[in-house]
Amino acid sequence: MLCDRCPQPLGVYRTSWFNMDNLCEACQKSEEKHPDYGFARRMETVQVSLKNFNYEGVGWPGEDGRVNRKAIQAAFKWDSVCQPDTPQS
Ligand SMILES: [Zn+2]
Repeated sequence: MLCDRCPQPLGVYRTSWFNMDNLCEACQKSEEKHPDYGFARRMETVQVSLKNFNYEGVGWPGEDGRVNRKAIQAAFKWDSVCQPDTPQS
């Protein structure tokens, strides 16, 4: 089985916080550095608390991309969850 984001064998893996990708250790580390990582984790926690176990994540925008919080905020109306944790330009 290969990582969903790079051609490496998975080895020890876990599922992404952003989507349903299975990630190798290197991709987990790069995901943890993403500026929306905290947001993705908060959204997951909220969805689980709502028993929405089919939730597929906020979506992986790529290492240099950003999650579209405005669209998610408009869809879910969870202002407290969608507060930016760093000022967005
Ligand atoms: Zn990988």
